[in-house]
Amino acid sequence: MQKIVGPITNHNGKLWFDGVNAKELVDKFDTPLFVISENRIRENYNRLSKALKSNYQKTRICYAAKANSNISVLRILETEGSSVDAVSPGEVSLSLKASFPPERILFTGTSVRNDELKFLIDSKVTINVDSFSQLDRLLRLGVPNLLSVRINPEIGAGYHSHVITAGKDSKFGIWAKDAPRVYETAKKAGVSRFGIHMHVGSGILNVKAFVLALDRLLEISKKIHKSVGVDFDFIDMGGGIGVPYRQDDPTLDLDLLSHKVLTLFKRRIHDYDLGDPFFYVEPGRYIVSDASILLTKVNTVKTTPFKNFVGVDAGFNTLVRPTMYGSYHHILVANKLDLTEEEVYDVVGPICESGDILAKDRQLPKIQEGDLLAVLNAGAYGFSMSSQYNARPRAAEVLVKNGKYTLIRKREKLGDLLRGQIIAEWLK
Ligand SMILES: *Cc1c(COP(=O)(O)O)cnc(C)c1O
Repeated sequence: MQKIVGPITNHNGKLWFDGVNAKELVDKFDTPLFVISENRIRENYNRLSKALKSNYQKTRICYAAKANSNISVLRILETEGSSVDAVSPGEVSLSLKASFPPERILFTGTSVRNDELKFLIDSKVTINVDSFSQLDRLLRLGVPNLLSVRINPEIGAGYHSHVITAGKDSKFGIWAKDAPRVYETAKKAGVSRFGIHMHVGSGILNVKAFVLALDRLLEISKKIHKSVGVDFDFIDMGGGIGVPYRQDDPTLDLDLLSHKVLTLFKRRIHDYDLGDPFFYVEPGRYIVSDASILLTKVNTVKTTPFKNFVGVDAGFNTLVRPTMYGSYHHILVANKLDLTEEEVYDVVGPICESGDILAKDRQLPKIQEGDLLAVLNAGAYGFSMSSQYNARPRAAEVLVKNGKYTLIRKREKLGDLLRGQIIAEWLK
C-alpha cells in the first residue's frame, strides 16, 4: 500500500484528487493531463505565510511564477494577497493580466534586453538588477523610484548543479565587493528606495543553508548601508524551499525555518542599524509542487531479457525534470491503489530518445495496458518546462476544487504545431 498525501484520496483503490475521480477527468479531458488542486495551493501559501508572520509581521511572499504560470494559478495567489517574482517580461505580462498590481511584481531577470528593460520601467514593476551592465542600460532608459540588486552571497545550495544559483560558478547576481558601487551609481542617478536580494538555489531541505546565506546577505547589507548610506525597504531571501519528492524524503520544518531565519534577521537588522525592512521570500516549488499530479495512460507493457518497460503517453516533452535533473517523481497506479507493488518497471515516454524515462526501476503493482498512472509533485516546473519536442502537442491543465473541476488550459492540437510556421515561397 502506498502512502497517500496531500489532496489525494483513495476511494476503493481508485485515486481521487481534491474530491474528483481521476478516471472521470481522464474520460473527459484525455491524457496526459495536469490536474491542479486549488485548495492545496491556498493551503501551501497560508501555511508559509502564517509560519513567517508568527515571527515577523512585515513579510511578503513573492510567488515565483516560473514554477507554474497558468493564469488561474496566478489568480488564486493574487486573491491570497501574494506578490509575484517574475523572471521574464512574459511572466510580468501574465501577472498583470492576472490583476497583480505592479507594486506586487518583482522582476528578477538575468541577461535582459534593452527593450525588455524599457517595458519593465513602463510597467512600473520593481526591478532586481543582476549586473552593472543591466543597471547602466536601465538608468539610461529611466530612473525608477525603487530598485533592488541581486547579490551573489557566495554561498550556493540546491539538489543539482543546474539549480544552484550562487557561488563562484554562478552567472547570477553581483558580488559583494562590487555591490556598494552599484548602489552608489543608482543613488547618484536619483533612485531613492532600495531592496536587496539573493536566490541561492532550489529544492533546499535544510534550514542551515538558508541561515548561512541570509547571514551573509545581511552582512553585505550592513556594508552597503554603512558605506553608501542607503536604507532597505526590503531584504529578499529568494526561493528554494524544498519539498519531499520521495516518500521517505525529510520535510523541511517550516516553523523551524521561519524561527531560525527570522530570529537571525531581527537580531541583525537591529545590530546593523538597518531599520525595519520587509522580509521577502520567493517560493515557487513550495507553493505549487504537491498541488498537482500528472495523469498519464499506459500504452505499452514490454519485457526484454533485462527489463520491464511501461510505455506511457507522457514523456520528457510533458515532464522534463527526471530527464533534465535526474529527479524522482513518485508514481501511483491511479486505478490500483490497493494492489501490492510486485513488479519492477522502468516507466518511459513516447519520445525517441533513450533518456525519456519518467521513473527507473520502480516497484509498482502489475501493470496492464490502459492503466492510469499518477505522477506526483508535478505542479512545479511541470507544464512550465514542457515542450512540443517530437512534434507532440502540449498537455491540458484542469483545476479542481472540492469536487468541482474546470479546464484551465486546452490541450494543444496538431494545428498548434503549425502555428507561426510558413512554407518558404520557393518550396511551395
Ligand atoms: C526559480 C526562482 C525562484 C523559485 O525557486 P523555487 O525553488 O521554485 O522556490 C525564486 N527566485 C528566483 C529569482 C528564481 O529564479
